[in-house]
Amino acid sequence: LEFDTLIIGQGIAGTTLAWALRWRGQRVLVVDREEAATSSRVAAGLITPVTGPRLVKAWRWDELRPAAEQFYLRVESELGSPIADWRPSVRLLETDSERTYLSKRLPGELNGLVVPRDDIIRRDWFHGGCAGIEMKGAGRLHVSRYLTKSRERWASEGGYLAASLDPGKDIEFAGGQVHAPRINVTAARVIFCDGAGAGGNPWLSRLRFNPARGEILTVQIPGLDEDRAIHAGLWMTRESGDRYRVGATYDWQDFNSGPTQKGKDELVGRLKTILKLPFEVVDHVSAVRPILHQLPPVIGLLPHEPRIGAFNGLGSKGSLQAPFFGEQFASHLVEDKPIDCEVDLAKRLVG
Ligand SMILES: Cc1cc2nc3c(=O)[nH]c(=O)nc-3n(C[C@H](O)[C@H](O)[C@H](O)COP(=O)(O)OP(=O)(O)OC[C@H]3O[C@@H](n4cnc5c(N)ncnc54)[C@H](O)[C@@H]3O)c2cc1C
Repeated sequence: LEFDTLIIGQGIAGTTLAWALRWRGQRVLVVDREEAATSSRVAAGLITPVTGPRLVKAWRWDELRPAAEQFYLRVESELGSPIADWRPSVRLLETDSERTYLSKRLPGELNGLVVPRDDIIRRDWFHGGCAGIEMKGAGRLHVSRYLTKSRERWASEGGYLAASLDPGKDIEFAGGQVHAPRINVTAARVIFCDGAGAGGNPWLSRLRFNPARGEILTVQIPGLDEDRAIHAGLWMTRESGDRYRVGATYDWQDFNSGPTQKGKDELVGRLKTILKLPFEVVDHVSAVRPILHQLPPVIGLLPHEPRIGAFNGLGSKGSLQAPFFGEQFASHLVEDKPIDCEVDLAKRLVG
């Protein structure tokens, strides 16, 4: 079997790059080992313009947000299935420090992006002053649906394979090509989109990872009817009916434990401080976010081995960042267009 590009890993990175390459006429094979709880599979997919305690505008929002909407619309029309929602979300303002940052940034970088409101959520549902900001342009990628529908499409066309490849042992190079004998595949190049697992990938050993495990709960909240995502130290977003997802924790040390009591207690405790209504936890998941030592993601080919590339480091913002950089990477690979310096893999290798 012969392909232009072999992509290893079908999370948000691999899926997005595969679409962008296919739209440029490439023959693409995506291989994934189909773990149940990967970063992309558990992620809520929230796209948020303003983040952190200092109310900072998301990095390169003005370019990344329109690219994301355009990209997901095109995928929706390919798949005939909705994968993203675009609706304002809510950020509650609870501290004086947050209010100070808001008044500082409102005339500047947040101008037109947020609308302050005194009564932004219902007092019979939520504690506190109920003051906050409405964040325009927010959205949500239904990540699991995006991955599953894309996978089904490509599998039906011979462009997807379920397999776990060992990057060090199962990839060989000969005659200017990449070979994966275990799956009987030859390609012009291989692009690793293997998420936090790339920490053990010998081809990417010069990339420094700083991953963070995160936990998310699904809770049932009878009587709550809120379609907007709410951010207040944690976030909550409607799954369906009276089920909401609540997240997420950050653990920079323990990557293997799976869901923990500590993570659950942290999320439940925080939820109780904002929600008046009783709730019940019905599900609890955990996965590791692929975060790099320096924050922006990376795309590109290895300078000493241009048959090997990577798309990684999407961190906590894969849904927003993947389309812009997936398209940029594809146009680099197919049309020889440049890669932005700050995301160029070649410039982020150490040692
Ligand atoms: C708790 C939590 C909450 C999050 N919430 C949000 C959010 O609200 N909004 C947002 O934008 N982002 C969120 N994220 C982050 C976002 O999900 C990540 O940016 C994104 O998942 C990264 O995607 P990826 O494709 O790089 O990695 P992954 O999703 O890890 O994908 C890598 C894939 O490669 C496969 N793989 C790895 N090695 C191999 C191999 N050798 N052979 C075959 N297959 C292999 C893995 O099984 C996996 O399927 C969250 C993440 C977590 C953990």
